[in-house]
Amino acid sequence: MPKCSYCGEDYEFPRGLTLVNALGHIRYYCSSKCRKYALMNRTKGKWAQTEKKEEEKAEEKAEK
Ligand SMILES: [Zn+2]
Repeated sequence: MPKCSYCGEDYEFPRGLTLVNALGHIRYYCSSKCRKYALMNRTKGKWAQTEKKEEEKAEEKAEK
């Protein structure tokens, strides 16, 4: 299973995007969000990590 070229998460084959450029480089993106941010040459910043943590916290609260 390939990993997303942008966020490094596992790429589920039928769901994501696979781009092959003229040089034959293959890039995998798990979502259009990752593809757009990668095209904008954004690097994965702290926002991505904090966003995930907040989601996890919200899920924990919902369970309690
Ligand atoms: Zn991704």
